[in-house]
Amino acid sequence: MNDWELETLALRVGELRTDIGSHSEPIFLTSSFVFESAQQAADRFAGRESGVIYSRFTNPTVQAFEQRLAALEKADRAIATSSGMAAILTMGMAYLRSGDRIVVSRNVFGTTHVLFNQYFTRFGVEAIFVDLTDLSAWKHAVNSNTKLLFIETPSNPLNEIADIPALAEIAKGVGAKLVVDNCLCTPALQQPLLLGADIVIHSATKYLDGQGRVLGGALVGNEQDMQEAYSFVRSAGPSLSPFNAWVLLKGLETLTLRMEKHSQNALAIAQWLAEHSAVSSVYYSGLEAHPQYALARKQQIGAGGVLSFELKDGQTAAWKLIDQCKIFSITANLGDAKSTITHPDTTTHGRLPSEEKIKCGITEGLVRLSVGLENVEDLRKDLEQGLK
Ligand SMILES: *Cc1c(COP(=O)(O)O)cnc(C)c1O
Repeated sequence: MNDWELETLALRVGELRTDIGSHSEPIFLTSSFVFESAQQAADRFAGRESGVIYSRFTNPTVQAFEQRLAALEKADRAIATSSGMAAILTMGMAYLRSGDRIVVSRNVFGTTHVLFNQYFTRFGVEAIFVDLTDLSAWKHAVNSNTKLLFIETPSNPLNEIADIPALAEIAKGVGAKLVVDNCLCTPALQQPLLLGADIVIHSATKYLDGQGRVLGGALVGNEQDMQEAYSFVRSAGPSLSPFNAWVLLKGLETLTLRMEKHSQNALAIAQWLAEHSAVSSVYYSGLEAHPQYALARKQQIGAGGVLSFELKDGQTAAWKLIDQCKIFSITANLGDAKSTITHPDTTTHGRLPSEEKIKCGITEGLVRLSVGLENVEDLRKDLEQGLK
């Protein structure tokens, strides 16, 4: 197994077979498991015998998903959660205590911002926000109380790239862990642990499912860190449902193929938009003109499906384009096989004060695409008629 490539791992790790030999993994849709004797129950609870007990913390379908994801991220272990936010909450509860500091890239997912800024701070955890790409700002922001550095790379929606090895070095200098939300690339395109990160976070809701069906999340890392995350999930219950785990397990089977196609389609759209007269700039780490193209090439084997671009005529042009699209769905979600289109300024980033929007590069003319798996020529024509 250790020498298998990603495509094989995605299909063959964590295979579950019942005694009737089902080829596809079964869903163990049960809350609890029965024991053969009082002695066995006591042994399972005491940890003297391994085996499943109760689906809040041990379910075979969830475990199969965890094993497969851990193999893809080259990690000891993964812990599944009910959503991406539940994974980030678990991270905070497992690794932070009152008086600690967490340093976070400014342009993280909006709800992550809210969780750190409005909730963790209630428990005496200080959250400091810095620019993803400004290494000197990171060096300044860390101190001896810093336990976690948290980033998303590429960032959403502007596709900025963090230098993962450099940030890992800064984290190590103060004894902190570097956590990477690997939502946009997935392990099919980027494996942060191999680049020096300590923990990977996933919103499995996005590309790991890949077809917009279920919510899910995960933490991935070494055995010791995952044991602490497991302990919190077991005690607090932000657990993944076996049904959702099964959907995600099936999603992983096609992950490498999908991410390759998402990247191809997005690159073609980005190149076309870059030449369009209504467009002033395109943000996509797969374009050679991207200021961090070389870094992206070093860390990622593709740039993924999310890109954004700026329209010269501001919000009027952006809304007109969005309303005229016939294929692109108007939704804030990303990572679906179906292409989506979003106006960040009035939706995902609408709650930010305007000076914060400016710092994050969110303007009135900015449009974000999550480029799906439809025929790329159809997608291009759909945008073209909307830009007329
Ligand atoms: C969607 C998203 C999350 C939150 O995940 P949910 O599954 O919606 O809870 C976290 N991080 C990133 C980058 C996301 O895109």
